[in-house]
Amino acid sequence: MSQYSYSVTCTECGAVDEGQVDEMTAAFAMEDHCDRCRQCGSQRVRSSWAMPRISEATLTRWSREASLSFLSQDEDIVLSEADGELLLACADHPQTLPEKRLTLARAICVRIHDGLTSEEDDRQQEARLAAAALRARPQLLDALAVDSYIGRVVAPWLHRAFDEASGQFVPE
Ligand SMILES: [Zn+2]
Repeated sequence: MSQYSYSVTCTECGAVDEGQVDEMTAAFAMEDHCDRCRQCGSQRVRSSWAMPRISEATLTRWSREASLSFLSQDEDIVLSEADGELLLACADHPQTLPEKRLTLARAICVRIHDGLTSEEDDRQQEARLAAAALRARPQLLDALAVDSYIGRVVAPWLHRAFDEASGQFVPE
């Protein structure tokens, strides 16, 4: 089983805590794990840890537990770096929670945006295929809201208009 390194250095007492954790802990629990000194309890610490690439195992677990998050902010951007097919398969899975399904759809939109604005042909091609996959899931699109900079670029490829006020893709 893969192990991931972390390091916490206390700026109060100087204690250094270094070690390794498993994939699930590295994916979901490091902000809590590394937020204080285990020696003196101070929260004035410098922490670093290795983030595992999102795997089928961590994505599946995340998709079924409301309390789990990969990062407290910008989760859709973190997710967008995962494999596109994996994101779509998870969005389709019947056991995926509805709010996680929307987060996955937002992450796919980030991927589409990044692909369409990329110089690389294969990334543009992947983005067009991902847009077609979302077009085939109108119920998901109806419920989705995204940031404006994403929506403006992605909407034409979804064959929808983008409503700036709500962040939603509306049928043309
Ligand atoms: Zn300390």
